[in-house]
Amino acid sequence: MEKIIIAGAGYAGVIAAREMLKYDQPATLINAEPYHQLTTWLHEAAGGRNQVDDYKIDLRDLFPDPIIQLVVDEITGIDWKKRQLTGSHGVYPYDYALIALGSTPEYFNIEGLYAHSLPLKSLESARVIRRHIEREFMRYGEDHDEIHLRVIVGGAGLTGVEFVGELAEWLPDLCHSLKIEDSKVEIICVEAMPDILPMLPNHLRDWAQHELEAAGVQFMTSSKIVRVEKQTLELAGGEKINAGTIVWTGGVRAHPLLGDAGFTCDRKGRAKVKETLKSVDDDRVWIAGDCASYDWAGKPLPPTAQLATQMGKQAALNILHTLQKEEQHSFTPKIYGTLASLGPSRGVGAMVGIRTSGRFASLFKELTKVKYLMQIGGVRMVNRKRRAHLLQV
Ligand code: NAD
Repeated sequence: MEKIIIAGAGYAGVIAAREMLKYDQPATLINAEPYHQLTTWLHEAAGGRNQVDDYKIDLRDLFPDPIIQLVVDEITGIDWKKRQLTGSHGVYPYDYALIALGSTPEYFNIEGLYAHSLPLKSLESARVIRRHIEREFMRYGEDHDEIHLRVIVGGAGLTGVEFVGELAEWLPDLCHSLKIEDSKVEIICVEAMPDILPMLPNHLRDWAQHELEAAGVQFMTSSKIVRVEKQTLELAGGEKINAGTIVWTGGVRAHPLLGDAGFTCDRKGRAKVKETLKSVDDDRVWIAGDCASYDWAGKPLPPTAQLATQMGKQAALNILHTLQKEEQHSFTPKIYGTLASLGPSRGVGAMVGIRTSGRFASLFKELTKVKYLMQIGGVRMVNRKRRAHLLQV
């Protein structure tokens, strides 16, 4: 029997494995951790909502049937000429592989940024940020140095804005629990471009900025971070700002293994794929999610969970077609829109052509979460996450 490997249990990998399961096709799913993390909700975990561990789902829960063999290992090499993946604990030969290893933070070679900022990219990084902020606030109680109460977030894309939205709700509560006056807290979001949330229409991004400013967030737009030292940011104009916490949400690039393996990559390290999501370099490898560079309307699709799930499904179906000696199908992305949460009870964005802001947008966003949980784990998973207070509907 032909050996199929899915590398990575993020949005694309999990959906692909579910598809294999649906058609009783044995496959091996390899992931560095024994769980699937709800990556698009990590701003909640980092921003003090709920328990951090509730934002993960045990892979054995998603794949109890041994038809999907689970391997916990970190992939360290892809040798598509030899048709094998290498991990920290073993070598994994395959006949067909789906590479869905996700992305890593993009540091743009900014001096000191990697060493002196905290990325928001994984469950563990969310835990680190949350603990770091709590520790800083506690230290303020000891020495009354206001630097501990200043949090800087670099980047006002979706991740940065969703995160400051959480902070605006959480930090007053944290102050209250530590008996600190919350008027001294500063949340500063620094963005290189003139606007926050560039993917939204003007009136919605203005609305979002106004709401967050009213909640205590300061935005510094047209402010490019050029250097970072311990607890200090330097902007292009030479201005320096210090803060006890510096979080980096300035963008992502594909997992470095794709470039290392010699795949043809775009400038964000994503491997070029054909319309069928097969690698342009090898006929036995499909690539999906943040690892894939798929041109649509003249430019590569953005690295979103929405598209990763669609790609994961199509790549899995195309592997199944190959096994059946059937024709491959082209991937047609369905871009439904973008919704950003601004804390637990407000949101902003446009979905299926409806532009929305406030409570309704937040409800809309909660429904997209329910849809995803239904897709991967059915009603049981929705109920479990609702009991853990991850859902507001
Ligand atoms: P992003 O690339 O969307 O935004 C990063 C921001 O950082 C940009 O606005 C950029 O101008 C800014 N930036 C970069 N360098 C800077 C510098 N030196 N100084 C100051 N600002 C700088 O990255 P993201 O928010 O991490 O999102 C990554 C991907 O994930 C995107 O495709 C996004 O759409 C997706 N995402 C979606 C959701 C959602 O649908 N709710 C949530 C999070 C992320």
